[in-house]
Amino acid sequence: MKITFLGTGTSTGVPYIGCDCKVCTSSDPRDRRLRCSALFEVDGVHVLIDCGPDFRQQALANGVRHIDAVLLTHEHVDHIMGIDDLRPFGDVDIYATAATNKAVHRIFSYCFNNDYPGIPSLVMHEIDDRPFFVDGVEVIPIKAMHYRMPVLGYRIGKVGYLTDVKTITDEELDKLRGLDVFVVDALRHSEHISHISVAEALAIIDKIKPKHSYFIHLCHRFGLHAEEEKLLPPNVSVAYDGLQIEV
Ligand SMILES: [Zn+2]
Ligand SMILES: [Zn+2]
Ligand SMILES: [Zn+2]
Repeated sequence: MKITFLGTGTSTGVPYIGCDCKVCTSSDPRDRRLRCSALFEVDGVHVLIDCGPDFRQQALANGVRHIDAVLLTHEHVDHIMGIDDLRPFGDVDIYATAATNKAVHRIFSYCFNNDYPGIPSLVMHEIDDRPFFVDGVEVIPIKAMHYRMPVLGYRIGKVGYLTDVKTITDEELDKLRGLDVFVVDALRHSEHISHISVAEALAIIDKIKPKHSYFIHLCHRFGLHAEEEKLLPPNVSVAYDGLQIEV
C-alpha cells in the first residue's frame, strides 16, 4: 500500500493569512501545509480520504491520475470543498455518514438534481460504523467525536487514519490496535475544544501502540517541522505535504 499525504494542515492552512510568526514565514517547504487529505493506493485501487478546498492543486502537485473512491470524515468545508474538482476522474464513489451525505447534497445540489453537462459524476454511499468494501478493499469506519460533531476515522489493512477528533471511546480505539501506521490529528500543543493536542495524540498512541505514527491537521502554532519532530518519540513523525510512505 502506498500513502501520499496531499495535505497536512488545519482548516486555515499554513501559513495563516496575514501572520508573521516563525512558522508562517519559514522557508522550509514542510512548514507549508494545505488542507488535510491523503491518497491511499491499495491493490490498484485509489482511495482518497477527504477532498478539501486545496484538492485541485494537490492533485496537480502529486500527479494524481486516478481516484476510484473518496472516504469523507465529516462535513467541515476543509474536508469536502474540493468535490467539484473530482470531474476529471469520471464516476467517483463517495462514502459518507448520513449527516455528511446530507451536507454534500446541500452544498453540491447541482451535482444531483439536474442534467447539466460537465458536472461531477458522484455516486454517494451512505455508511455507518459497519465495515464495507471499496472495489474489494475492506474499510473499517472508526467513530469519534469532533467536539459535538460525530466524525469517522478509517482503517484500511494495517493503516489507521483519524482526523478532527477530540474524544473517542476505548471500544473504537480497540479497532485501531495492531496498526503498522497510524495517521492522527495533533493540531497544536495547547488544548483545543474540538481537536486533540500533541499530548492527547501521544496518549492515544501509547494506548493502541502502532508501529509508527504520523501527525496531521497541524496549525501554525504547532511549531516548526524541523524542531518539533526532534522532540517526538522515534516512532512518531510529523507528516508533511507530498510525503509518500509504503506500508
Ligand atoms: Zn479539519
Ligand atoms: Zn503564523
Ligand atoms: Zn473539522
